Amino acid sequence: MNHVLITGGSRGIGKELVGLFARNGFKVSFIYNRSATAAEAIVKQLQEEGFQVFAHQCDIADEAAVKALFKANKEELSDVDVLINNAGIVGTARPFLLTTGKDWWEIVHNNIGGVLNFTKNVLPTMIRNKGGRIINVTSLSGLKGNPGMSAYASSKAAISAFSKSLSKELKGTGIIINCVAPGFIATDMTKDVTDAYYQQRMSNSVAQRMGTTEEAANLILYLAKDAPAYLVNQEIVLDGGIL
Ligand code: NAP
Repeated sequence: MNHVLITGGSRGIGKELVGLFARNGFKVSFIYNRSATAAEAIVKQLQEEGFQVFAHQCDIADEAAVKALFKANKEELSDVDVLINNAGIVGTARPFLLTTGKDWWEIVHNNIGGVLNFTKNVLPTMIRNKGGRIINVTSLSGLKGNPGMSAYASSKAAISAFSKSLSKELKGTGIIINCVAPGFIATDMTKDVTDAYYQQRMSNSVAQRMGTTEEAANLILYLAKDAPAYLVNQEIVLDGGIL
């Protein structure tokens, strides 16, 4: 059985990924931070349906905590063959000059730190197994920039550059790394997006709506499972054709 490790599985796109991968024959381990009740409910429901699903509380940005998580769950986490670095925060949208250094770096640290910490702990297994797939969830913001979101956009652009560099570094190991860059997906992260700038961009898109978590999760499942091994080092935009 394939084993997927998903960060940020308690809500939004990650929650969708947990259910979809379980129903597609994967053993699923997922990480949550603050939403313990939601995470427990997901595990309970999927285990009752007969799936192998495990959840762990961990702050993805805390290097020592991530290392301790892998040490404490050695048996469960030693056979991961798909890693989805999905967890992320957008923070409060604010013009750069009104953003404190602390707030700016918190977003960057959370988003990039999480990807680095989980990738570092999973890679030795993938190298030993001569293969694996890593999918990093970036953002259209990282490709195009967004007002009031310089920290978030910078963090996602960094994850994209990190992914492409690591992919080249791992040449010959059989490890495939790709990114998925969503535009607007309907989750908690976007529920308060009322700003006219974003509303207008969404309604002017080809799809004229937000994307769904199902659409995002299906693309990620494809990259993890059925996509050809020749599809490497890409950042696939899922934005409904935002102009
Ligand atoms: P969401 O609904 O806000 O959920 C975020 C998830 O990340 C939650 O499960 C949360 O866990 C987890 N998380 C955040 N910080 C964490 C930390 N320090 N440690 C552990 N878990 C942490 O977000 P979403 O919309 O599903 O977004 C998922 C990914 O897609 C993010 O990387 C986001 O940047 C990216 N994205 C989303 C959109 C969009 O339109 N929604 C667009 C572009 C990119 P807890 O609740 O347990 O703390």
